[in-house]
Amino acid sequence: MRLMNEIKTNQRLLGVLPHDDVLSQCIHCGMCLAVCPTYELTKFERSSPRGRIKLIKAVARGEMAISDSFAEEMNFCLDCQACETACPAGVKYGSMVEAARVEVDNSGYGSFAARFIKKIALKYVLASNAALKFFARLLFIYQNWGLQKIVHSLHLLKVFSPKLEEIDKLAPRVSKTFSDDLFEVITKPEGEVKYKTAFLTGCLMNVMFAEINKDTVDVLKVCGCEVFAPKDQVCCGSLHAHNGDFDTAKKLARKNLDAFDNYKFDFVISNSAGCGAFMKEYQHVLKDDQKYSVRAKIFSAKVKDITEFVTENKILLPFTEFIDHITYHDACHLVHTQKISNQPREIIDKIPGITFTQLEESTWCCGSAGIYNIIHYNESMIFLERKMKHIKNTGARMVVTGNPGCLQQIKYGAERFGMNIEVLHPVTLFKRALNFKAEE
Ligand code: SF4
Ligand code: SF4
Repeated sequence: MRLMNEIKTNQRLLGVLPHDDVLSQCIHCGMCLAVCPTYELTKFERSSPRGRIKLIKAVARGEMAISDSFAEEMNFCLDCQACETACPAGVKYGSMVEAARVEVDNSGYGSFAARFIKKIALKYVLASNAALKFFARLLFIYQNWGLQKIVHSLHLLKVFSPKLEEIDKLAPRVSKTFSDDLFEVITKPEGEVKYKTAFLTGCLMNVMFAEINKDTVDVLKVCGCEVFAPKDQVCCGSLHAHNGDFDTAKKLARKNLDAFDNYKFDFVISNSAGCGAFMKEYQHVLKDDQKYSVRAKIFSAKVKDITEFVTENKILLPFTEFIDHITYHDACHLVHTQKISNQPREIIDKIPGITFTQLEESTWCCGSAGIYNIIHYNESMIFLERKMKHIKNTGARMVVTGNPGCLQQIKYGAERFGMNIEVLHPVTLFKRALNFKAEE
């Protein structure tokens, strides 16, 4: 068994299996079991946070070799981090499972689909702006020039796998214009500049959720922000880190630090739960990098989710009346990783005319979880069905959620379960309630 790096403190040194002392912080209390979706589904101890920590510990101690079943259990975890929120001992489970995935990745175990997505799609497509845009344009043609309709009507994808057709429907639609062509590198507000902000346009956000990025810049303008969105910024690296490829995640983090370096900013704004959470971790990811560690620390301290930025700075958005019935789904990497839950609700509460109904189990994962809904489609649909039932019970017409993955998953759920609801990002709601159309 290969020797593994061991770290003897409780710091989050990402991508490295923690020392036995850290893994032993789990006191086996079982408080996390009630909030763990995979344990709830199987009732197997090995599919619980406590069980997985035991497995990771056995591997770290050299008592157990990495195997297909170990790899499967690590990949079966949603990495939703609900267990971290519930844990009274402060166990940093997320970094443990992510480190275990690095070991799994290095050892060559795991399903073909998981390895293909990690090795090809994440490493060579998402990590390169040019490759991502090239494939996004091909996908746009497939989705919009009638090819997808033909493929679906002939059920051609089912020849390869019965799930592939559904997974194809699950993919977000590629934006006609990518967001980095929708606004300038520097956008100025109407009046005085109150805040200088840097904005991560992201990878999939840029090519598949371009309108949300545009809405974010428009809302930031109303907040009095100058917005810097450099063209040479890249994917934040979160999907790579969560799926065991820390080397690529580090490379991307360095590239982003270089891209944003030319501008003096007060805040780095994110509109995607996973990206914001991971940019806050750059300080740990690049901790041992002589050239970048100090810059990463300064950068991470400035990262804010858009709702966090608005509430922390006590910005009162000039909302007009907006009559609708809304509920809110907490994206895991906002509520569990960044502890952002009240902030979006606080802003929504200030919109006159809105009826807001709390969603039962709003902090329970919707099953999107990065690439989870692709590599564990069946289980993901079980989690989604549970989420959609709760959404239906609210009677709301709109579901608001701050992560593109959740947004797309719930949109797909609405179609799958025949629900007539609209799913949107908080910034889109804010922009509509700001009556932005009248200003444009
Ligand atoms: S991250 Fe989520 S799915 Fe994984 S063990 Fe924790 S609660 Fe369970
Ligand atoms: S709640 Fe924390 S300490 Fe208790 S079993 Fe779960 S991970 Fe271990």
